[in-house]
Amino acid sequence: MSEQNFDIVILGAGSGGYAAALRASELGFSVALVEKNKLGGTCLHVGCIPTKALLHAAEVADVARESAKYGVNATFEGIDIAAVTAYREGIVSSKYKGLQGLIKARGITVVEGEGRLASPNSVQVGDQTLIGKNVILASGSYSRSLPGLEIGGRVITSEEALQLDFVPKKVAILGGGVIGVEFSSVWKSWGAEVQIIEALPHLVPNEDESISKQFERAFRKRGINFSLGVRFQSVTQNDEGVVVTLEDGQTFEAELLLVAVGRGPATANLGYEEAGIAMDRGFVLTNERLATNVPNVYAVGDIVPGLQLAHRGFQQGIFVVEEIAGLNPIVVPDSHIPKVTYSDPEVASVGLSEAKAVEQYGADKITSYDYNLAGNGKSHIIGTSGSVKVVRLNDGPVLGMHMIGARVGELIGEAQLVVNWEAYPEDIAPFIHAHPTQDEALGEAFLYLAGKPLHVM
Ligand SMILES: Cc1cc2nc3c(=O)[nH]c(=O)nc-3n(C[C@H](O)[C@H](O)[C@H](O)COP(=O)(O)OP(=O)(O)OC[C@H]3O[C@@H](n4cnc5c(N)ncnc54)[C@H](O)[C@@H]3O)c2cc1C
Repeated sequence: MSEQNFDIVILGAGSGGYAAALRASELGFSVALVEKNKLGGTCLHVGCIPTKALLHAAEVADVARESAKYGVNATFEGIDIAAVTAYREGIVSSKYKGLQGLIKARGITVVEGEGRLASPNSVQVGDQTLIGKNVILASGSYSRSLPGLEIGGRVITSEEALQLDFVPKKVAILGGGVIGVEFSSVWKSWGAEVQIIEALPHLVPNEDESISKQFERAFRKRGINFSLGVRFQSVTQNDEGVVVTLEDGQTFEAELLLVAVGRGPATANLGYEEAGIAMDRGFVLTNERLATNVPNVYAVGDIVPGLQLAHRGFQQGIFVVEEIAGLNPIVVPDSHIPKVTYSDPEVASVGLSEAKAVEQYGADKITSYDYNLAGNGKSHIIGTSGSVKVVRLNDGPVLGMHMIGARVGELIGEAQLVVNWEAYPEDIAPFIHAHPTQDEALGEAFLYLAGKPLHVM
């Protein structure tokens, strides 16, 4: 048995945990970072990064297929999945090496193994007891399923989907949220027949309704099939494939069923309840400053109810450590966190949807403007349609921005600054957007809302 003391002990080295460790070392704290698997967690190894590599390979396939449209002679001959895997793994392993190097260079003590909160101020890893003046819980999340829907064989989650060594010919996807549409987009680009099953009335149902509708049109145009508003009932599988049945009796046959119905908090049997931490359905409850009900115990990332996004985890990790250091960091509400759905087309948003803004302030206090990317030169050049919608409080700041189209994820930086800084369209309309960029679409929308539209009536 050994016992070591630290200023901060962190359980889990995903986006939330490792960001906390890095900021803690910068601030001069001694830190233990406990990880049972790999530094970097879900996002780096089985989430954000590898899926975006697949999406890039999907984009390249589409570009090759459509090359004649741009006067380029090329043919799409198929997907070499082994080469895609090598490319994807190369990206992940290089980022992993970089992270390992950074953690080492910052003098952070990494403790490998499965940790358990043994008391409110200690984490047990095998025979090691790590005592912390402060403890940060960052144990992350796992792919959820539905009651009675067992994962196995041809019924897979995103983790198995990433490991497939073939492109399915026909695939059913349960869930039309971010992860579901991401894989739909990849597989369709690679030549698969795709059927999405979503119980809610829309795909990407957490977005502004006008964006969800445009997204559905775009997916329909790409030949991605989806059924909306009907719930999954059951699935059977055999050597050939799966048969999925919905509650209204519809059935779909496919080679695989990808279950993408969200992620649950990875908090079971980690000693949290025993240490007196208040929980709700497995999530760790915190106040807005991420403190649990137990003094000096904080939680960050996917185990905290709210948006399950890597950059929220990074921000929360930094926030908690600055809070411990007495730096009084500012609280960023979940609604002000930028969200990007990576697919073709992309969706990017921050702030309130039009419906939420109307609910909060009343219809007469809200103006929204939808700028169609058809008027944007760069979007035309790269062959995308879509729009940029800005929701503002009348005589007040921009409350929300909602975008759809190829590459719009790259525009979210300006949008999140505008919303978080509570800028008025009149404040930002005078600033200049480079021409020709897709970013100009934001500028056109601000000009319109400031009463001086340029390229629109
Ligand atoms: C397919 C997919 C695509 C995604 N794409 C994006 C995206 O594009 N953008 C985005 O922002 N987000 C994306 N996400 C979400 C993102 O990955 C998560 O929000 C993020 O990883 C959460 O960080 P975290 O630190 O809370 O948890 P995690 O990253 O899950 O890390 C938790 C860590 O804790 C470790 N751990 C757990 N229990 C213990 C224990 N008892 N002892 C020791 N270690 C333990 C785990 O091994 C893990 O490494 C995606 C997720 C998936 C699944």
